[in-house]
Amino acid sequence: MKKNDWILIAVVLAVSAVFLGVYFFRPQQKDGAAVVTIDGEVFGSWPLSEDRTVEIGDGNRLVIKDGKADMVWADCPDKLCVNQKAISREGESIICLPNKVVVSITGGEERELDAVT
Ligand SMILES: [Zn+2]
Repeated sequence: MKKNDWILIAVVLAVSAVFLGVYFFRPQQKDGAAVVTIDGEVFGSWPLSEDRTVEIGDGNRLVIKDGKADMVWADCPDKLCVNQKAISREGESIICLPNKVVVSITGGEERELDAVT
């Protein structure tokens, strides 16, 4: 019986180690968020880690997918915002001048690396 006890303890320790390992070495979450403002007023902010579609007022549609925010549709005449690339890093922004909509990223990944490069 004593031998079995040791096996049990070993199993418990091994399981604990696995859980701790998963906890500490899980992939880094991108904790950046897309902040949307309309005419200077904060409309809302959404984490880049969750895929979603955001209707910004009546004139813009933002899609957050795979950790990036992308303006996929707008009713503005120039469509400059739609043509901008998806953004994912702090300091990047998509601006729709006609609709006064600004999408910017806060707290994105690789902040220190960006500062160096
Ligand atoms: Zn636009």
